[in-house]
Amino acid sequence: MQSTQKQENARTPERWNSTPVPPRVAERAYERVDETEGGCWISRYSTASHGYAQIGWQDAGRRSVVLAHRAAWVHVNGQMPLGMTLDHLCKERRCVNPAHLRMLPNFENARRTNGRDWPLGTCVNGHDHTHLIRTAKAASPRGYRMICGTCQRDRRRQWDANNRDRRRQAQAAYRARKKEANA
Ligand SMILES: [Zn+2]
Ligand SMILES: [Zn+2]
Repeated sequence: MQSTQKQENARTPERWNSTPVPPRVAERAYERVDETEGGCWISRYSTASHGYAQIGWQDAGRRSVVLAHRAAWVHVNGQMPLGMTLDHLCKERRCVNPAHLRMLPNFENARRTNGRDWPLGTCVNGHDHTHLIRTAKAASPRGYRMICGTCQRDRRRQWDANNRDRRRQAQAAYRARKKEANA
């Protein structure tokens, strides 16, 4: 159980940070920064495979890690509520300029995958919040995830349509075999 949780967190680093960031750590986000012409503050803290810079610290022997851009945001705005995450408006994962960050609910951010962008409050296909449904997913801190139910239903229908012929062929082959066996 423990290891499943860890793997999930490695893929979705925003979930690491339900623990408060100490002020002294939040401040460190600005220590090693290169400013770009576009106004990004590129952190020189090391990045993990997810591409985000991260800052580690020790508290009473317990090791913690926070994404550098989240530390920077906390320094300016205070701790983030659980279930919220940060989105880079500049798409630069190592950027720690708070002006380039906006706070979103996790489900909102999860709908904005692969650098694609669309208006807040809708999914990629334009369905608003009334289309959201809960899925049972224990890895989330709240024990469920929010997804677009209409998109999920459409994907299932599409999958069914794509596989209808294959399924009919499989059923016909099965009936033929059964008929042969009974003959
Ligand atoms: Zn930036
Ligand atoms: Zn949708």
